[in-house]
Amino acid sequence: MRGKLILVVGPSGSGKGTLINLVKKLLPELAFPKSSTTRAKRGHDSDKNYNFLTRGEFQAAIDAEKFLEWAEYGGNYYGTPLSEIEPNLADGRIILKELEVQGARQIKEKIPKKELVIIFVHAGTWKEMEARIKKRADMPDVELAKRRERYDDEIGFMSDADYVIENPDGKAERAKKNFEKTLRAILANGYFFFLFPVP
Ligand code: 5GP
Repeated sequence: MRGKLILVVGPSGSGKGTLINLVKKLLPELAFPKSSTTRAKRGHDSDKNYNFLTRGEFQAAIDAEKFLEWAEYGGNYYGTPLSEIEPNLADGRIILKELEVQGARQIKEKIPKKELVIIFVHAGTWKEMEARIKKRADMPDVELAKRRERYDDEIGFMSDADYVIENPDGKAERAKKNFEKTLRAILANGYFFFLFPVP
């Protein structure tokens, strides 16, 4: 039987990265593919999450049709190599992949519905996200406006999701439990259409 690709989508700051890192420990049977990116390596990045490419290398990979999807985000390119997905699906593995919404839209067009699950991480309204960003650091208005535009684009994809994980400020533990529970249900092949909230 072919595997499934689970996409984790949600606005920047929604906490999808933290949720993925958590299940890397809890559910090692999942496949965690590497993305390619042209962005600079950050302090906490490891080569396990990204292949860091130059723009030239990334363009060559696009030309050679090596990506299942790719997108420009915040001035950098990000892409999912086909070689990280197709062999795993053929092996019947369940793959967990975090990505932004332009890439998710492309994948929705390419991967059959029965092999795709979309989980949306929702951390609140724009007003709540804005307050959180402003609390963390001063941000120029232009940058804030860009964030808002991206937020609106991402939130527009929420209705395409099979599951929504609510992750508002202060409720991280509940979100983690719901995320794990959702993944376990998918792994058990019990494709639950309802999410029973953890009390
Ligand atoms: P960051 O630079 O913070 O690691 O990631 C920026 C954004 O790119 C995040 O929303 C992340 O989910 C997204 N991203 C990471 N890998 C990929 C990928 O392979 N394809 C696409 N389209 N987006 C990705």
